[in-house]
Amino acid sequence: MAARMAIILSQGQSQGQNHSSAKRHLEENIAAGLASDPTCAVMLIPPLYDLPPGSPAFQMLRELPGDFVLLSWLYPRAAHWTLDRHHVRGQLIETPLIETPLESGVNELREHGAQPQLPDADQPRVLDRRPAPDRRIYHLDLRTSEDPRVFVQEVRRIVAERGGALADRSAAASPPADSSHHVPAATLPARRWYPVIDYSRCTNCMECIDFCLFGVFGVDHQETILVEQPDNCRRGCPACSRVCPENAIIFPRHKTPLIAGGPGVASAMKLDLSQLFGRPAEQEVAARERDEHLRRSGRATVPSAPEPREHDILDELIDELDQMDL
Ligand code: SF4
Ligand code: SF4
Repeated sequence: MAARMAIILSQGQSQGQNHSSAKRHLEENIAAGLASDPTCAVMLIPPLYDLPPGSPAFQMLRELPGDFVLLSWLYPRAAHWTLDRHHVRGQLIETPLIETPLESGVNELREHGAQPQLPDADQPRVLDRRPAPDRRIYHLDLRTSEDPRVFVQEVRRIVAERGGALADRSAAASPPADSSHHVPAATLPARRWYPVIDYSRCTNCMECIDFCLFGVFGVDHQETILVEQPDNCRRGCPACSRVCPENAIIFPRHKTPLIAGGPGVASAMKLDLSQLFGRPAEQEVAARERDEHLRRSGRATVPSAPEPREHDILDELIDELDQMDL
């Protein structure tokens, strides 16, 4: 029996009737386009980001043998690190449908006349300390096209590309023949809002844990940063993603692509961008956002650091006395 590859289709949340029916239409047409393909095992799961930690969908993905393709309504980096936080591990493989984030961010800056400085590649990242997973997860962003044929074609290309490797594996390493997970739209989970950490960028500097006053972040037994209480995060607040010096904190639902895990680069360029467009520094915006959420939850805001005092006449007198060496 030929080895098959799991194709996971993560449904989109509803967002107005027309929008959600367009999403359903695309999802159903992709599933139908691949249904008769003997090399693909198509499985539908509820919206990935909204799934609670104990969801059977995560259990199924953890137990899935071998490589798989994930089609979701998220940026690949956001989808990948959402899986990772639920212990569904693999190498992130981007596809030709998507421009690589680093190139895109650099090009955006160059178009505006800036000289981007690439992040320091020598700085150790949390991911460097982990053993490299031997399976690959191919990510496709369903927002890339409205045409289901684009995705069907790309999935077939990936499956064909992986064909040689898969042929060497036994059928036992394929998803079971009766794999199918279909959750009707009426049972979609409630929307959630929490940060997702990209450990390929994170340097474990702890700025986020110091900044957030809602107890969202914590550390594991190796003192590595993690999102410990995701549901403590204030809905709509993306403040810590602006504070992170490596642009490693993703809010997959944020409207700004750089915060949602879309094309973009790390800190040095983030600061360049704000200078370039005359925007207030990211740190100031973040502090304002955090204070707003503290106020809304009836808590005191953080007093800003006092402005440095002018050197006044008293300071001058003290300086003179010092110089007299009495
Ligand atoms: S601020 Fe960013 S780089 Fe620093 S620990 Fe938090 S996620 Fe990692
Ligand atoms: S977005 Fe705001 S509330 Fe949520 S983790 Fe970051 S700082 Fe904390």
